Amino acid sequence: MSDRSWAEPYKIKMVEPLRMTSRAEREQAIAEAGYNTFLLKSEDVYIDLLTDSGTNAMSDRQWAGMMLGDEAYAGSRNFYHLEQVCREYYGFKHVVPTHQGRGAEHMLSQLCINPGDSVPGNMYFTTTKLHQELAGGRFVDVIIDEAHDPDSEYPFKGNVDPNKLRALIAEVGAERVAYLSLETNVNMAGGQPCSLANIREVCTLCHEHGIKVFLDATRAIENAWFIKQREAEYGDRSVADILREMCSHADGATISAKKDGLVNIGGLLLLNEDELAERARNMVVVYEGLHTYGGLAGRDMEAMAIGITESAQDDHIRARVGQVEYLAERLLAADIPIVRPTGGHGVFINAAKFLPHIPREQFPAQALTAALYVDSGVRAMERGAVSSGRDIETGENVYPSLELIRLTIPRRVYTQAHMDVTAESIIALHENREQIVGLRFTYEPEQLRFFQARFEPAEGTRIFRAKAKQAAGV
Ligand SMILES: *Cc1c(COP(=O)(O)O)cnc(C)c1O
Repeated sequence: MSDRSWAEPYKIKMVEPLRMTSRAEREQAIAEAGYNTFLLKSEDVYIDLLTDSGTNAMSDRQWAGMMLGDEAYAGSRNFYHLEQVCREYYGFKHVVPTHQGRGAEHMLSQLCINPGDSVPGNMYFTTTKLHQELAGGRFVDVIIDEAHDPDSEYPFKGNVDPNKLRALIAEVGAERVAYLSLETNVNMAGGQPCSLANIREVCTLCHEHGIKVFLDATRAIENAWFIKQREAEYGDRSVADILREMCSHADGATISAKKDGLVNIGGLLLLNEDELAERARNMVVVYEGLHTYGGLAGRDMEAMAIGITESAQDDHIRARVGQVEYLAERLLAADIPIVRPTGGHGVFINAAKFLPHIPREQFPAQALTAALYVDSGVRAMERGAVSSGRDIETGENVYPSLELIRLTIPRRVYTQAHMDVTAESIIALHENREQIVGLRFTYEPEQLRFFQARFEPAEGTRIFRAKAKQAAGV
């Protein structure tokens, strides 16, 4: 990065006031939420870093576009605008809108997976893996080993290990591999990119065996920015250019437009093959809506079309990733254990290292999210054993190599001072970390348990040990 600031290529025209809460109010709110930040009321949250999904601030152009919504049931002009933008930026031939990313994942999984098939992927994403399993597939992790090492500085920790992929093909046979599910800027690894060299290599490998490759291109634009920064031959290319080249190697993509796409709702299934696209258009009518709206209002498709255009600009993505890196640098300077290199959409704290006194069975990452909320009203998300769930065969808890909390930065929403408040709270918690206690389940849902699970402190009645010296509050 240059020594000049990453400052934003926009100014603020409208503000949304936030409610400030006391520490006592927050202690009560987190207890009522079962120590699960997903169950907090947004009103009780000061800085909401739960997710970058659908939390983006739209531009004046997007809001103006909302007024141009063509709410016809069929053939809305906003659909054709969206189709044109997707073809221009992602390059795939067919565009099927969906209500959000998982709608596209559902259809792709049902269309392309036969029961018993293996579905290799570069680390799992919750909804992606679940839809693959619901279609009878078996997810197989083929990400490089470095991705599982939070201390590895490898610049492309999202890469697929071609040897793992080859071994899988040799083991089950190419015809039992449904497709390669290739996620860009791998969320669960900490927002870590794939290199273009790797995308090219593994797509070629798959195609040699007649195996298709579908991107999870939800954060492909952030990935393209990292390619520009870290892959020598792409330094002079525009992000839009790199994005098109990434997509040119794949057969299609699922996208949650709630991330890169700078909107609050929407998803996409993008495909090249005519016959598969025809089947997808037949299916979208059953689950989402007609193929020219896919569960979205015309105005939402217009906002998405404009959002994709804005998000693929170098100046936008430089500032977006720059803000994430700013927070990471502040934490690193205080020796907080974070996943390196910094990801595109958030900072991931290694909770196992932050709270070594809390055993994995007491969910240190979940406990850290609760403690952070009580300290400063900052809402983060657990990405560890709670998110990972239970083994579908043995029913045992799966303890993934990474036990993280995620501070996900919404796009164009918070200021540098908000990042400072967040960093100061985490640093204060780290200084008093022995006072944070673990958690145990009081309620555990069967599917995607992290969303609705409830917990209680494993000892005492609070997330901080009794007589805790209070960390600096807001
Ligand atoms: C958010 C997300 C999804 C699912 O998209 P939704 O819009 O939430 O349904 C899929 N893959 C990745 C990588 C995501 O981050």
